Amino acid sequence: MSAGEPAGSRIERRSPDDPRRGWRYWRLTPEIRLQSVSQRGFTWEPARPLVARCAGAGVAGHDTPDLGCACGVHASVDVAALHADALCLVPGPLVVGEVDLWGRVVIDEHGFRGEYAYPRRLDVVEETVAGVVSLDEAVDGLAGYGVAVGTTPLMDAVGPASATILSFLAMSGASPPPER
Ligand SMILES: [Zn+2]
Repeated sequence: MSAGEPAGSRIERRSPDDPRRGWRYWRLTPEIRLQSVSQRGFTWEPARPLVARCAGAGVAGHDTPDLGCACGVHASVDVAALHADALCLVPGPLVVGEVDLWGRVVIDEHGFRGEYAYPRRLDVVEETVAGVVSLDEAVDGLAGYGVAVGTTPLMDAVGPASATILSFLAMSGASPPPER
């Protein structure tokens, strides 16, 4: 399912044994921990599911995630959608991979949003870690998450358009674009 995703949004209940699987990016900290790209406060701890929390006002009003709110752990439905999201990335150590979502899962035109999340597979984006950690250090350090860890070139991870932009920003030392 990708372009053919129905317009209607919906909520599923998924067990950890039968999760929704999506794709996403993580920021890699110098301590070799995964952090959310968009909400940098969220660190993904090894061996512990990330639990979504709604940051909006009036939290008592709904379960997380919910239709009509942006809360929940986000994932893209496929690689094409992931590459579209890559246009929001800023230079720095980057990991790409598959993620399992379970509990309440919202499916809408933006992708998936889950109540619980844990990585399924991780690939360190080769060109992005230079100057912070070595590729081997990154791969070894991520082993603590207990999932398959590999490496991937920037072009495959983000697509050609974002690869060009990120390479340019990294080389020029330009400050990242404002967060949306
Ligand atoms: Zn919410």
